[in-house]
Amino acid sequence: MIRVRFAPSPTGMFHVGGARTALFNWALAEQSGGVFVLRIEDTDASRNQPEWTEGIISALAWIGINGTNPVFEGPYFQSTFEPQHREAVAKLLADGRAYFCDCTREDLVARTGSEHKGYDGHCRERGLSAGAVRFRTPDEGVTVVDDIIRGRVEFPNDAQEDFVIARTDGSPLYVLANAVDDITQNITHVVRGEEHLGNAAKQVMLWPALGATTPVWAHLPVIVNEQRKKLSKRRDKVALESYRDEGYLAEAMVNYLMLLGWGPGGDREIMPWAEMMPLFSLENVNSASAFFDEKKLRAFNGEYIRALPLEIFEERCLPYLDPSWDAELFSKVAPLAQTRIPVLSEIRQNVDFLFLDEPVFDEASWDKAMKKNPVEILTGYLSALEVVNWDPESLKDALLKVGEELGMGLSKAQAPVRVAITGRTVGLPLFESIEVLGRAKSVERVRAALA
Ligand code: GLU
Repeated sequence: MIRVRFAPSPTGMFHVGGARTALFNWALAEQSGGVFVLRIEDTDASRNQPEWTEGIISALAWIGINGTNPVFEGPYFQSTFEPQHREAVAKLLADGRAYFCDCTREDLVARTGSEHKGYDGHCRERGLSAGAVRFRTPDEGVTVVDDIIRGRVEFPNDAQEDFVIARTDGSPLYVLANAVDDITQNITHVVRGEEHLGNAAKQVMLWPALGATTPVWAHLPVIVNEQRKKLSKRRDKVALESYRDEGYLAEAMVNYLMLLGWGPGGDREIMPWAEMMPLFSLENVNSASAFFDEKKLRAFNGEYIRALPLEIFEERCLPYLDPSWDAELFSKVAPLAQTRIPVLSEIRQNVDFLFLDEPVFDEASWDKAMKKNPVEILTGYLSALEVVNWDPESLKDALLKVGEELGMGLSKAQAPVRVAITGRTVGLPLFESIEVLGRAKSVERVRAALA
């Protein structure tokens, strides 16, 4: 049975890269009726905070990874397994696979004459009974990580020092704890980010030394931004929560994240989880870095928004609207908005003109829209507004006529009217918007713009 795990460290906001790793693991577990273990790797007490753990759990739940599906197991907390980690260190010592070492950095530099040389094996045969614990690595040959995505990755052993698995105070190091937990939790596939390939080179030695058969390794390609730089929390918007709060739909997010390094084949990219999940395979994950294209994600999200039943769309918009805004009035423009907005939070700027006493005044929009004959257009349209039939067609014809008289096309003539009515240069279809706003208010706004 396939047992995979997702093992985040709660040291910050939950990253979209982590979400991609989690989803790939989730797909493997779900398609095979296996198990997905959530293990919070909280051993670095100085960097962990409980709110990050909660953030991870709720973000995972948002993208559908939670205990309502029977494949989910956990969450476990790595810190609770410290006795097992210590036991493993003791076993490796007893078996002669590891040894104590009391060399300081200065000792090593003095011996090797370099700041950059790895550990020289000085304590290997000294038979010390205290100190840090190092794992004995072979001096010659290569260590191979057979990676489903990357193929055979070789690490020359002469470049691999005897690495530390426990500190002088006995506390085990991450590389060991991670392997021990994977072994005790019977993990069959280790699927994680490429940055852990170096750890795999060590863990591929630790697993057999601890009496276990190595798992299937799969190291996922890095995710890069538009400049082809690795996504980073300093440069890029990486927190899954910020996408959620901005009004990305979980379904769209999941769909998009699944395409970072993998694809269902064919030319269909928009595909719901239920269809995508059974198609996923590690063999088809690409080793080249994956571009996180926010524009494409927005487009995906727009598609998912348009596919919502109207009443669900309205409901999902509510958090972005003022509670005091008239729901019935909102319902009148909701269908127009649904076809246009790529993220839910943008609903507000598209409909606020209906509810505010005065439209938002945005100087840049005014300057831009009021370049060509604004007074003539608005004056002409004002007279029309007072008498015209109140439907989008007639409202449009009336403006067309005003424009014609001034020798301008509809889109030029629309600009000042749109800004006068909504305060902005872009928004919902103009004549439908005017219709919903009503004659009195529309007249009042055009007048105000002329004043
Ligand atoms: N805790 C590690 C991290 O958050 C994951 C290690 C692993 O998946 O093996 O990067």
